[in-house]
Amino acid sequence: MAKPVVAIVGRPNVGKSTIFNRIVGERISIVEDIPGITRDRIYSSAEWLTHDFNIIDTGGIEIGDEPFLEQIRQQAEIAIDEADVIIFMTNGREGVTSADEQVAKILYRSNKPIVLAVNKVDNPDMKDQIYDFYALGFGEPFPISGSHGLGLGDMLDAVAASFKPREEKEYGDEVIKFSLIGRPNVGKSSLVNSLLGEDRVIVSNIAGTTRDAIDSPYKYDGQEYVIIDTAGMRKKGKVYESTEKYSVLRALRAIERSDVVLVVLDADEGIIEQDKKIAGYAHDAGRAVIIVVNKWDAVEKDEKTMDRFEKKIRDHFQFLDYAPVVFLSALTKKRIHTLLPVINMASENHAMRVQSSVLNEVVMDAVAMNPTPTDHGKRLKIFYATQVSVKPPTFVVFVNEPELMHFSYERFLENRIREAFGFEGTPIRLIARARK
Ligand code: GDP
Ligand code: GDP
Repeated sequence: MAKPVVAIVGRPNVGKSTIFNRIVGERISIVEDIPGITRDRIYSSAEWLTHDFNIIDTGGIEIGDEPFLEQIRQQAEIAIDEADVIIFMTNGREGVTSADEQVAKILYRSNKPIVLAVNKVDNPDMKDQIYDFYALGFGEPFPISGSHGLGLGDMLDAVAASFKPREEKEYGDEVIKFSLIGRPNVGKSSLVNSLLGEDRVIVSNIAGTTRDAIDSPYKYDGQEYVIIDTAGMRKKGKVYESTEKYSVLRALRAIERSDVVLVVLDADEGIIEQDKKIAGYAHDAGRAVIIVVNKWDAVEKDEKTMDRFEKKIRDHFQFLDYAPVVFLSALTKKRIHTLLPVINMASENHAMRVQSSVLNEVVMDAVAMNPTPTDHGKRLKIFYATQVSVKPPTFVVFVNEPELMHFSYERFLENRIREAFGFEGTPIRLIARARK
């Protein structure tokens, strides 16, 4: 189910990214390991009490060489387009500025709930300074301090109070939801078009569909599919839609709503850093992943070309060792028919539940074969393993001391589980937990 989206807007230097980082906290991510990416993080999942949501720092979306006011205007529009609730951030030390008033004017025109935050209220006796902000017309301003972490709780309570009760599911469980991500020009739209070619039966009314304007539902061979956010791939209207950060944001939201993500590469151009970053997002989100090498028609081939290309992919995408690779051409439609069976397989594995008894046999056999690690004379003991969820399959392993579970041993167990059950196409997660 799609989580609510919260966007932070406001002029530069009011503290948007500081607050964003506070709210997001420490989240481990593959993507962050790729140099130069941490700083650009503008989208993340987050939690407040029992609420899960996604948050966008629109200040991180730089829009070309547009003048300052135009930039914040467009950032505010992105917030209106993308968010369910908007945090409008201002600076209590500077009071209400004309740029704040400009932002307010744009926000008035949206019918999204707005929570007005006055940042940099670092100590209680500064609270008087917030009264001016009532003039912006968004009701009670929330004094906060990003540097000291003050007031965030009350502000987030107000944000969460604006979350609408969740509607029913977008699509039924039997429908496979997938999206195509990749940098511009790798052939995503062409691939969608050839998938939706002559063979398709358009499903006009999937119960609960709320997004049919941007998604493409279809049916093939008795199976229903939805290609998520087809519109996001196609429309290139507003100025900000051509900016890289915005397309990343769009892709992240599509990933969020998908079961299976196709990471599309251009065979003719090879693999570049940006491809890795994009693939990292799909992995981090715990979606099933398929690597699609498009434009295979444009490559001069001999019988070894495919193997060589696959090896290159394995080298570049080591974290995606579970992802199948499909070579095809959206243009000539060659090998297009090989894609759907792989999507079906990945989707099935992503939702697979295994029997506890068999799981425990596999884990105990693994331990017998390769003894658990020790640290300072203390040995890791594994008592019991159980699958706690699907999409992706997640296993809790009860142990004596979770710190003794080394990364390499975790990897080993993961591989044994994969070999035993065949989780091709899906990440799996292992969580070591102390037995109480
Ligand atoms: P953004 O441009 O809106 O994303 O603003 P930043 O998060 O980059 O913050 C701009 C500056 O304000 C940085 O130097 C922050 O350290 C500082 N800042 C952020 N929050 C606070 C706060 O609560 N109090 C004070 N005094 N400074 C803050
Ligand atoms: P997108 O930006 O990822 O949606 O890419 P498009 O679908 O717009 O394709 C970009 C360009 O690549 C267009 O000129 C397509 O005709 C071309 N293209 C797409 N798929 C293929 C393919 O399989 N083979 C070749 N040779 N060109 C392709």
